[in-house]
Amino acid sequence: GNKVKIVSGCFAGIACRYDQKHWRVEEIQRLVREGKAIPVCPEQMGGLPTPRNPAEIVGGDGEDVLDGKARVIDNQGNDVTEQYIAGAREALAMAEAVGAEEAILKERSPSCGSCMIYNGTFSGTKKEGIGVTTALLRRHGIRVISEETWESEGENQT
Ligand code: SF4
Repeated sequence: GNKVKIVSGCFAGIACRYDQKHWRVEEIQRLVREGKAIPVCPEQMGGLPTPRNPAEIVGGDGEDVLDGKARVIDNQGNDVTEQYIAGAREALAMAEAVGAEEAILKERSPSCGSCMIYNGTFSGTKKEGIGVTTALLRRHGIRVISEETWESEGENQT
């Protein structure tokens, strides 16, 4: 659609990932430059520092976190569930503020994943599931896809 989208900040050259890694996805950077996308990082917006410890969802996925049935734990054992939920709410607030109906978010992140996440054992093992922010955005009717879905849909070809 022509409406402004939300995109993961780490796609747009912003060093917001836990280890400060980021990507410069040209098609996404172009959307941002043209005012067609707003970069957000739910983990930073939820109050976590950068760099920070990597975290995984233990006991479910983002839906379960929102329902109080799973927690987000970092690799040192700290419970960061509250910050992840706060970040999801802030990302939703930003989406609503700009009237976004769609988000392109980083696959496999415990916040941003939309098909796959890590399984909570810090062993690099993935499972089907979605991140906390993706879950909250979808509950509010915002379409969330990943960079991988976006590429396969060919929406970035203009
Ligand atoms: Fe990127 Fe999302 Fe992780 Fe922020 S929370 S670094 S936007 S994947």
